[in-house]
Amino acid sequence: MKQIPSYVQDRWITGQGPARALVDPTTEEVIAEASTGGIDFAACVEHARTRGLPALQDMDFAARGALLENVAQALHAHRDELLELSTRSGGNTRGDAKFDVDGAIGTLAHYARLGKEFGPVRHLVDGEGVQTGRSPRAWGEHIHTPRRGVAVHVNAFNFPAWGLFEKAAVAWLAGMPVVAKPATSTCILAQRMVEIVVEQNLLPPGALALLCGSAGDLLDHLGGQDVIAFTGSSKTGALLRAHPCVVERGARINVEADSLNAAVLDPAVEEDSETFDAFVREVVRDMTQKAGQKCTAIRRILVPRERLSAVREALREELARQPVGDPRRKGVKVGPLATADQLRDVRAGVERLAAAAKAVVGDGGRGDLVGEVGERGFFMAPVLFEAQDPRTPAVHADEVFGPVATLLPTSGEPAEISELVALGEGSLVSSIYSDRADFVREVALGIAPYNGRVYVGSAKTAGKSLGPGAVLPQLLHGGPGRAGAGEELGGPRGLAFYMQRTALQGYKPLLEKTIGTAPRV
Ligand code: NAP
Repeated sequence: MKQIPSYVQDRWITGQGPARALVDPTTEEVIAEASTGGIDFAACVEHARTRGLPALQDMDFAARGALLENVAQALHAHRDELLELSTRSGGNTRGDAKFDVDGAIGTLAHYARLGKEFGPVRHLVDGEGVQTGRSPRAWGEHIHTPRRGVAVHVNAFNFPAWGLFEKAAVAWLAGMPVVAKPATSTCILAQRMVEIVVEQNLLPPGALALLCGSAGDLLDHLGGQDVIAFTGSSKTGALLRAHPCVVERGARINVEADSLNAAVLDPAVEEDSETFDAFVREVVRDMTQKAGQKCTAIRRILVPRERLSAVREALREELARQPVGDPRRKGVKVGPLATADQLRDVRAGVERLAAAAKAVVGDGGRGDLVGEVGERGFFMAPVLFEAQDPRTPAVHADEVFGPVATLLPTSGEPAEISELVALGEGSLVSSIYSDRADFVREVALGIAPYNGRVYVGSAKTAGKSLGPGAVLPQLLHGGPGRAGAGEELGGPRGLAFYMQRTALQGYKPLLEKTIGTAPRV
């Protein structure tokens, strides 16, 4: 049986003791095992701190950007192999695998360009300076310098590639070494990607560690200059937030957690219009891409009452065109869920929703599967619910992390729509499908406090956009409340998490010489 090693202190180490099995979710074959048993987490963090940190901080933004570019190119050169591994280990169709792997490479490339743009400097200036008294003798600036610590990244099972590198790209560019802990169930892809980077010797010693298995006592070794970026369930997020390294020693933490994202249809959007078609297509894409295991997937579909039957029928037809089955088979659009636990959780979620709403497509079963999968595999065909009362609590409270969404009838009034979106208690992204500026303005400003991102779909973007589900490195990712109250990416904004913002106060000409030509962000 293949043992997935961890990369610690610049060496591959296979953990001892009981290991977790990694399973191909299509065939249920055990493909590997992983354990971090016996790994010295204190030494791992210390090595990153004493070797990786000084090496990265000696480099300027341009040099770190070049490093990211090299990593992006190395991964790109192995793209086909990585896509195949993503299918085998995560049940991803080729399209789903590209979403994860290309997302990783694209984010690295984006931050590589940013490093090049920033050039040969080691700090950044935040916004414009400000006069604090009667003359320029009293002047203030804000600067960002890299934190003198280690970035610990704990990731969810659904994006082993993107999750690792979207976080590492930003941390490395800022100048911090990374200790990455992918979710164990799908860590084989992350491990192979790190292996490619290590084989080519692209990083300074200590700049990256990878832990394949439990996080053990990793967090016990963190302090006030360290950061934790977590993606996963709110339950685990709450555990990490309460850890003494955060509460007592002041390690900085960012949490990306559950989210009940909404899509809103403007009552003025005509059936058979480009905007209507885009709405239907993007709802279906979010329900089916990665079998709905996407933190940004649309879960609540807010539709004006008079359009409800047209939307229901259009979704029914479009969902029927998304074959479920063996993700290796061409034409299959929905693969299995990633793990047996995931299938069990989603089935339980479907049962809870079934008690509160009516299933109008699917029933939580496997559906007609394409390919020779027999009884094996963690499959579920898409399930579309419809709730009579748009305030039905279960619909706004329960993130069912699979190919599942619920139609909710609305009056189409922006005030009611904003109130319904807010019932999700904080989402990563909500989308508005409309061509009317007034409607978009009222709804966007009404729902913005409850969302990290608001996506506007219209006739002008139809067919030209990746939809609300795609996280772009240029824009913020994260959301308030239930979504974790975190923020990542957003171009240069993402760097702030890994840097200390400090106010500089004094005589303007002296401060100007201090900050030099560093870019203002
Ligand atoms: P999870 O069970 O919370 O696990 C997430 C990560 O935390 C895994 O690496 C897990 O390791 C680790 N972990 C678990 N207990 C830990 C502990 N006590 N100390 C340190 N690490 C610990 O979540 P998941 O099932 O992988 O992911 C599904 C959830 O993630 C969904 O709710 C989804 O909405 C959310 N998600 C959010 C985003 C976002 O960007 N907001 C993106 C993707 C997913 P093991 O695997 O070894 O247990």
